[in-house]
Amino acid sequence: MNQFDMPPAEFRRSGYEVVDWIASYLANVGDLRVFPDMQPGDLIDALPRSAPDDPEPMEAILADFRSQIVPALSHWNHPRFHAFFANTASAPGILAEALAAAVNTNGMLWKSSPGHVELEQVVLSWLRQWIGLPAEFFGEIMDTASTSTMQAIAAARAQADPELRARGARQGMVVYASEHAHSSIEKGALSLGIGQDNVRKIGVDSEYRMVPALLRAAIISDRQNALTPFCVVSTVGTTSVTSIDPVAAIQRIAEEECLWHHIDAAYGGPAAILAENRWMLEGAERADSLVLNPHKWLFTPVDCSVFYCRKPEMLRRAFSLVPEYLRTEQDDRAVNFMDYGFALGRRFRALKLWFIMRYFGRKKIEEILRYHIALAHELADAVRADKRFEVVAPTTLSLVCFRYRGTDDENKAIIERLNASGLTFLAGNVLDGHFVIRYAIGNIATTREDVVAVWEKIQEATAAIASPAPVQ
Ligand code: PLP
Repeated sequence: MNQFDMPPAEFRRSGYEVVDWIASYLANVGDLRVFPDMQPGDLIDALPRSAPDDPEPMEAILADFRSQIVPALSHWNHPRFHAFFANTASAPGILAEALAAAVNTNGMLWKSSPGHVELEQVVLSWLRQWIGLPAEFFGEIMDTASTSTMQAIAAARAQADPELRARGARQGMVVYASEHAHSSIEKGALSLGIGQDNVRKIGVDSEYRMVPALLRAAIISDRQNALTPFCVVSTVGTTSVTSIDPVAAIQRIAEEECLWHHIDAAYGGPAAILAENRWMLEGAERADSLVLNPHKWLFTPVDCSVFYCRKPEMLRRAFSLVPEYLRTEQDDRAVNFMDYGFALGRRFRALKLWFIMRYFGRKKIEEILRYHIALAHELADAVRADKRFEVVAPTTLSLVCFRYRGTDDENKAIIERLNASGLTFLAGNVLDGHFVIRYAIGNIATTREDVVAVWEKIQEATAAIASPAPVQ
């Protein structure tokens, strides 16, 4: 009998209560406000300034969770959450998270938890097959795409500069990405001491895709200036508009110019599971690395970012460092993930991916992805049919970018009205100098009715803004 932790009978009671709460939450989250009605600091002011000295009953903790914490949350699992990249913590993923916490394994070494490490290898092999990458890609699960991409850049630099490990970084190493690439690329370069001045933002075409000729020209110009190009990052599903960079053309340039090619498919990667979208990753089979986030569009609770790398030896060159207390006997089949990345400790994220891939199977996942893409196209058609609006970028996946043909402030006011209403949560972006509305579809519970309801509310808010009520 455990002397200090919660007794099993109490755990069962509280556990059933928690599961009941989660089941009701998932069934009824659509009735909640998507974004809380609160001001910054409200929750801090409402909670005690210091932690209790004496134990508190679970009933009180759960009651406060329901009455104080939940109303202060923005509900990412809400069917009308359309900000950023909408995502899903699906029910099988939630159950797996609880089990992962219960077994509490740390997958840093094969010896630290063999089943954890081997399951991670199995699910990443399954997912690799789904998106059509060849078997030589080594896979590991990270917390975020930001970490995965930083590791890719570190491995790329280790390849380009083998002495770096002992000597430290050289200056003038250059990374390339499109001007629509996610900030995590620049942030990764910053973190590695590459310097913002050495991140080239390559121009895009009319559909916001990197222009290969501009990439080539930038590489040539940098070499003429005695700089060292070493890495290019293409994006499959940019954050601003979900444009798809021409991966195969960029891959050819990377090969000819001896650059590492990393593909940021954090959001768009799952779309390549669909046969009709396989073209998006054409060329990826020869690339050096790729990141895809199941916690964005594969119904997996945050966090879960999958990082594939065709040259795991470069990850080892960049990161492997084995102190005596972590040394284990060598065996070719025993992977020690700590040798392939910066972090030592690693959560059991593979478990939720395994649950999700098995529970839904490929066919159901394909059906949901196709439904989201269809909803996005229907919304884009509805927006186009209302002449007050314009769709500002091609709808390639499940994001629709559009704007009211008015001022930036009017577009911001539309979003503010919608968010204040509690019906939805939307966010915007600046595209070509104009503020635009980003409408992201990615939650498993989102229905056509949800999208229609939000679109009608946008039209209503627009009418109110265009002809404000007379001042009394
Ligand atoms: N790459 C792309 C294309 C993204 O849209 C995002 C986030 O939205 C990221 C990378 C960063 O993802 P993470 O939050 O997992 O670091």
